[in-house]
Amino acid sequence: MEFALADHHRMVQKMVRDFGASEVAPRIRELDRSQTFDRTILQKMGALGLLGLCVPERYGGAGSDYISLGLACEELEYVDTSLRVILSVHLGLNSLSLLAWGTEDQRRRFLVPQARGEKVAAYGLTEPAAGSDAVGIQATAVRDGRNYVLNGEKTWMSLADVADHFLIFAWTDPVKQKQRDHAGLSAFVLTRDMKGLATSTLHGKLGIRAGNTGTITMDEVRVSEDNRLGQDGEGFRIAMFALDQGRYTVASGATGLIRACLDASVRYAQERRAFGVPIGEHQLIKEMIARMSRDYEVSRLLYLRAGWMKNQGQRNTRETSLAKWYATVASEQAAGDAVEIHGAYGYSDEYPVERFYRNAKGAVIYEGTREIHTLLQADYALGYREDKPTRVTLPKWPFD
Ligand SMILES: Cc1cc2nc3c(=O)[nH]c(=O)nc-3n(C[C@H](O)[C@H](O)[C@H](O)COP(=O)(O)OP(=O)(O)OC[C@H]3O[C@@H](n4cnc5c(N)ncnc54)[C@H](O)[C@@H]3O)c2cc1C
Repeated sequence: MEFALADHHRMVQKMVRDFGASEVAPRIRELDRSQTFDRTILQKMGALGLLGLCVPERYGGAGSDYISLGLACEELEYVDTSLRVILSVHLGLNSLSLLAWGTEDQRRRFLVPQARGEKVAAYGLTEPAAGSDAVGIQATAVRDGRNYVLNGEKTWMSLADVADHFLIFAWTDPVKQKQRDHAGLSAFVLTRDMKGLATSTLHGKLGIRAGNTGTITMDEVRVSEDNRLGQDGEGFRIAMFALDQGRYTVASGATGLIRACLDASVRYAQERRAFGVPIGEHQLIKEMIARMSRDYEVSRLLYLRAGWMKNQGQRNTRETSLAKWYATVASEQAAGDAVEIHGAYGYSDEYPVERFYRNAKGAVIYEGTREIHTLLQADYALGYREDKPTRVTLPKWPFD
């Protein structure tokens, strides 16, 4: 067992840390306050190779491993959750699904420009009437010769108003839809230029205010069967495969958020005095700081294990779910405690912890709520659920 990071990991870590500190940290309070998604950040992430970080070089990526992706997400969310969300949806949910499930033609047409940062990608599963219950979605894709005609609406889609490519899930079999049989779902790649496709931005979110979240409506959108990802009926498997990758980025990002809360709290606890001593000397403050420190270490080990398993080409649904569940719940606790440690000053945007607190909640909800992961972990423990090897996996690292 090897616990040390390799040199190539440390290089990615340092590059992303420097980028966050110099390019984003000085402006993030203002971007968050004004609810502005700054496209230049996306361009800079593309120039650094982050948007295709763990995509093989032959598909336009940087060829790094999956542990590097986790480290990058940890560093990005240390600065702001909106940065990590970009990698979660563009690379984790969308590009890695194309890499694993796409035909060679689809990889050339969609993955290569995404990995190079020329096109931005999003993932649309959630609908107004169905989030956790993915089989409850209502979007349809009706066959018409060599095409499908898509109708429906997706909501709460990260990067909806920014993306060029959309990975969309819809029912292709109405009988199976009635039976709630997920084998009637299929996956499609849609592009912004398609007739009948429109997007909009949601306003008034609690957190991730420097990020873009929105909706996409599909009104008779005609899509060639060449844009169907996987076979007809494999949509649910692809949606769940994508979540194995997206949840990994959420887990590693939340780990970065815990570290951000810890660093801010330690700084403040050493400066602020109450009852004649720095507040860090009071036992109840120490307890909160100790919990952040513990949860940072546990969350980090959990995501690194999941990343290691991805490098080996092993199925990691259970381990990734555990990493996501633990880190996001712990990050919400850490952010709440960080505000508490800052007292009234934590309640204003003079310090970043109020932003951390607002940002932390989202990750407990998306990519499987706290309750959904609790159920999953219980089912694994009880033996009601088991991960079997699947036909399609992420390519092992090092890539061929
Ligand atoms: C900031 C943000 C970004 C997002 N980005 C994306 C994106 O890019 N793409 C995308 O497709 N979606 C995205 N989502 C949507 C997200 O994945 C869903 O919100 C999430 O899956 C929960 O679905 P829901 O909101 O419909 O809640 P519901 O599924 O309606 O759940 C409501 C409550 O009921 C609980 N619940 C549901 N079922 C059970 C059960 N069986 N047992 C116990 N409790 C249960 C839930 O835990 C929750 O507490 C995003 C959401 C947010 C907030």
